[in-house]
Amino acid sequence: MPGDRAAGCGGRMEPISVTVRGGGEWVIIHRCRTCGTLDANRCAGDDNPLALVRIVLRPISASGVLLDG
Ligand SMILES: [Zn+2]
Repeated sequence: MPGDRAAGCGGRMEPISVTVRGGGEWVIIHRCRTCGTLDANRCAGDDNPLALVRIVLRPISASGVLLDG
C-alpha cells in the first residue's frame, strides 16, 4: 500500500515496534487498536533512543506475553 496513510478511524495508535534504518534513522511502528492499521513514523535524530526502546519494551514487559496475531 505505497503512500497509503493511516485510515484515521480515530482509534488509539499504540507503538508496537521500533527499527533503525541505515544512517541511524529511527522508525516507530504504530498499530491502531481499533482497526489494526499499521503506521510507520520516522522520528528525529535528536530524540532519545532509550525513550524509544522503552516504548517497545513497556507493553511487553507489562503483560508478560508477546503480541499475538
Ligand atoms: Zn484505526
